[in-house]
Amino acid sequence: MQDHQSVDLLVVGAGMAGLTAGARAVRNGLSVTVVEIGEDVGGSARYAGYAWTAPSHEVMERHNPGGEASLKRALVDRFAEGIAWIRSTGVEVKDAQPILSFGQGHQFDTHHYVDTCRRIIVEAGGTLLLTTDTARLLLEGGTVTGAELVTADGARRKVRATSTLLATGGFQGDTDLRNQFVHPHADRMELRSNPHSRGAGHRLATAAGAATGRAEAGFYGHLIPSGIPFADPSDFVDLSLYYSEHALLFNLLGERFTDETLGDHLTAMALMEQPENRGLLIADARVFRDWVVGSYVRGAVAVDKFALADKRGGRTGFAESLDELDHLPEEWGYDGPSVRAAVERFNARAAAGEEPVPGRRLDRMPLDEPPYYVIETVPAITFPFHGVRIDDRARVLGEDGQPVEGLLAAGSDTGGLWYRAYAGGIASALVFGLTAAGSATVRAVRATRATRPGEAPL
Ligand SMILES: Cc1cc2nc3c(=O)[nH]c(=O)nc-3n(C[C@H](O)[C@H](O)[C@H](O)COP(=O)(O)OP(=O)(O)OC[C@H]3O[C@@H](n4cnc5c(N)ncnc54)[C@H](O)[C@@H]3O)c2cc1C
Repeated sequence: MQDHQSVDLLVVGAGMAGLTAGARAVRNGLSVTVVEIGEDVGGSARYAGYAWTAPSHEVMERHNPGGEASLKRALVDRFAEGIAWIRSTGVEVKDAQPILSFGQGHQFDTHHYVDTCRRIIVEAGGTLLLTTDTARLLLEGGTVTGAELVTADGARRKVRATSTLLATGGFQGDTDLRNQFVHPHADRMELRSNPHSRGAGHRLATAAGAATGRAEAGFYGHLIPSGIPFADPSDFVDLSLYYSEHALLFNLLGERFTDETLGDHLTAMALMEQPENRGLLIADARVFRDWVVGSYVRGAVAVDKFALADKRGGRTGFAESLDELDHLPEEWGYDGPSVRAAVERFNARAAAGEEPVPGRRLDRMPLDEPPYYVIETVPAITFPFHGVRIDDRARVLGEDGQPVEGLLAAGSDTGGLWYRAYAGGIASALVFGLTAAGSATVRAVRATRATRPGEAPL
C-alpha cells in the first residue's frame, strides 16, 4: 500500500474538537487532513448551543474536585481564548450569561461554527475525507506517524502525519465499552449523541500504548422519560427532564437517594446506581409553572415535557392531591403509599426549615401546591468521562505517564478532566482542540528544522 499523503496534522473526527484543531492548524500554516466517518461534519456539536464552563478555579474545584488539576486549570485559563477564537472565525458569540447554578458561558450557532471551520480548512488547501474510517495508527519505534484509512468503497490508504489527533467524540455508541467503563448496565441507556462516536479514538489510542481513565468517572447525560426511544435528535432536548433539579426523585424503594438540586446531569448518574436504573420524578404546580414550562437557560424555548412524554406513551400520572399518589399503577412497581409518605416527610422538614435527607443545597421549598405531575425517568448518555489520558498540551499519555510521541487527543475522547462532575463538553473540545493545534504546530516546526541541515532543533 502506498502512502497517499504526508501532512503536518491528521485529524480523526470532524466534530467540535477536530474541526477547531484543523481550522486553527491551517491558520498556523500547517498542512491538514481531516477524516470523518459520517456523511457530514459536526458530530454532537451540531446539537449543542452553549460554550460554557466554571468561571474560576474556585468554582471548578468546588464542582469537579476529582478532575485532574492540570486539565481543569487549562480549561478555565484558556476558555476566554477559545471564545475569542470562535469570534475570529466570523461566527457571532453572544455575551456571557449564567449557565446552571454555577457556570458561565456564551450562546453561539454551532452549525455556523462547524461549517465555518470546514470552509477554513478546505479553502486553505486542507483535505476533508468523509465516510472514511481509520483502521489503525501507523507506529514507528513507539512514535505515531499517521494512520491507515478505509474509505466507504473499502479502499485503503495511508496518510503520514507529524501529529495525529484523535477527536472521535467518545465511546457512548458502543455498548460493550459502556458496560466496561461506565456501568455494568450502561447498555440500557438511550444514546443521546451523534451515532458515530463508537470508541474509535479509545481503540486506536490504546493499541498505540495510551493510558485511559479514570475508573468510576461516570458520564454526562440527562434524565428522560422511561419507555420512549428517541425518534430523532430533536428528542435529545425535548425529552430531557432538566427541571428535575426542582422536583423530587424516588427510586423503586420509594426513597430519595440524591440531592436533585445538584443538577439533572448528576442526578442521571446517581439514578444509574439505583435498582433497575429507574425512578419516579414528582413535581407540584409551582415546579411545573416555574421550571417544567419555564426555560432551562435564559432565552431557550420551553417545551412542556410532561405533556410530550404523556402523548408519546411514557409512564406519566397526574394527581389532584398527595393522597392520590397512593394509587400509582401497580405495574410500575412503586409502592404508592411509601412514595406519598416520602413526599410528606420532605414537605414537613422543608416547612420546618430542617435539612431534608438526602440534603438539598438549593430549592428547599415544599412540594405542596396541587396538582402533582408524576413521570418515570431513566438516564440517557451523551458521552463517558472515561477516556484517553492527555496532558495539558493535549498530548496522549502512555501507561508510564509519558507522552506517546506524535499522538494528540481532544474532546470527549479524553478522560481525566471530569470525575462524576461536568461543566461543558463544548468548552473542553474547544480549548483542547486549540491546544492540540498548538502542539501540532510545535512538532511541525521542529520536524521542518530537523530536515534542514545546519538548523538547530527547537
Ligand atoms: C443534545 C445535545 C446538546 C448538547 N448541548 C451542549 C451545550 O449546549 N454545551 C456543551 O458544552 N455541550 C453540549 N453538548 C455536548 C457537546 O456536543 C459535546 O461535548 C461536544 O460536541 C464534544 O466534541 P467532540 O469533538 O469531542 O465530539 P463531537 O462533536 O461529537 O465530534 C466527534 C466526531 O467524530 C466523528 N467520528 C466518530 N468516529 C469516527 C471515526 N472512527 N473516524 C472518523 N470520525 C469519527 C463523529 O462522527 C463526529 O463528527 C450537547 C450534546 C448533545 C447530544
